[in-house]
Amino acid sequence: MKKNKGVDTKCVHSGDLIDDRFKGATSPLFPSTAYDFIDVNEDKYPRYFNTPNQLALSKKIADLENSEDALLFGSGIAAIFSSLFSFIKSGDHVIFQSSIYGGTLNLVIKEFKKFNIKYSLVDSFDLKDYKKEIKSNTKIIFIESPSNPLLKLIDLKSIAKLCKKNNLISIIDNTFSSPINQNPSDFGIDIIIHSATKYLGGHSDILAGALASNKKYIQTIKESSINYGGNLSDYTVWLLERSIKTLSLRVAKQNENALKVAKFLFEHQKVNSVNYPGLKSHPDYELSLTQMKGFGGMLSFELNDLDEAIKFTRKIKLIKSAMSLGGVESTICSPTLTSHSKISKEEREKIGIFDGLLRFSVGIEDFEDIKNDLDQALSQL
Ligand SMILES: *Cc1c(COP(=O)(O)O)cnc(C)c1O
Repeated sequence: MKKNKGVDTKCVHSGDLIDDRFKGATSPLFPSTAYDFIDVNEDKYPRYFNTPNQLALSKKIADLENSEDALLFGSGIAAIFSSLFSFIKSGDHVIFQSSIYGGTLNLVIKEFKKFNIKYSLVDSFDLKDYKKEIKSNTKIIFIESPSNPLLKLIDLKSIAKLCKKNNLISIIDNTFSSPINQNPSDFGIDIIIHSATKYLGGHSDILAGALASNKKYIQTIKESSINYGGNLSDYTVWLLERSIKTLSLRVAKQNENALKVAKFLFEHQKVNSVNYPGLKSHPDYELSLTQMKGFGGMLSFELNDLDEAIKFTRKIKLIKSAMSLGGVESTICSPTLTSHSKISKEEREKIGIFDGLLRFSVGIEDFEDIKNDLDQALSQL
C-alpha cells in the first residue's frame, strides 16, 4: 500500500494477505512451521520472522509508523531486548531515560552487568543532561515519551538530532502513544518499539511486541534476533492483525474520553492534581502540540495519600482496578503498589510519584458512565 493512504485505511488494509483461493475478506492464517526448501531464495520458518502472516502484519505496522520495515516479537520486552542487544557488546555504553517502563529498567539493571555493558540513567527530560552523558563508547539513547506515570514529554526532534550528530542510535518506546498519536520516525528517531500487549492488541488478551525502523537496522536486528528466538506465534500474529484493524477508532475514542476525564478530574475538589499532556496546565502542553497527533488515553491524578488511593480503587465499579493498559476497558492502578513498588518511598517522591497517585488507562466506554463512576467513588472519600 502506498504511504499516502490515510491512517484508518492503513489500519484496515496495509499488508492485507489476499485470499486468492476462496476470496475471503480477511487474511488467511498460515500456521505452518515447515515449508518447501527447493528453489527458494530464503528458507521460511517462524523463528526467521518470514512466514506469510508475520510479513503481512510487519508491513501494516511499518506503514503505521511511517517506517520501511518492522518485526514482531512474543512480547514488548522481547522487542526491547532484541533491539538493544543487536547493537551492543561488552564494554559499550547506553543512555536511558530513567522514567522508562519498569520492566525495561529491570532488564537493564539486572542483565547489563552480566555482559559488562555500561549505562547511564538520566532523570531528566532536558537535552543537555543527555548530552553530558555521551562517552566515546556510547552506542544508543533510549527514551519513552510520554513517560509513565507522570506523562512528561521529551523533545523527539532534539534527541534524534543529538544522536545523528554523535553517531548514536535513537530508540523510543512508543507504547503509550500508539502509532495513531505519535510517529517518532517523522522526527528522525531510528527505532520505534511497541508493547503490542497494550494499544495495538487493545483487548487485554494478547502478549506481543513490535519494532519498526529502516531496512538496514531491521536487517541487523533480524540477524541477531533469529538467534534470540523471541518471535511471535502466527496464531497471535493473526489475532493482532485483527485487533489493529480497529486501532485508529479505539484510540480516537480513548483520546476523546481521556481529555474529558482529565478536565473533569482537574475541576474535582477531591483531586489534588492531574497529569495529562492535553491539559493547558501540563508543562509540556506546547511540546505535545508539535509532536503528538492526539494526547492519548493515559493520564494520572493525585489523591491525598495511599489510604485514599486504595479506598478509591475499592469503590470504583465500572472502571477496573488492573495493572495493564491500552485495553478497550477503563483500568486504574497505583504506581506505588505496582510499577514503582520496588523503589523506596523517598526515591519515588524524588521523581514526583507520591503515594496518592493513580494511573488511569481510559477505555472506550461512554464518557458519562466513566465520569459517574469516578464521581461516586470520589464522593466516598
Ligand atoms: C507493557 C509495557 C512494556 C513491556 O511489554 P510486554 O508486552 O509486557 O513485554 C514495555 N513498555 C511499556 C511502555 C509498556 O507499557
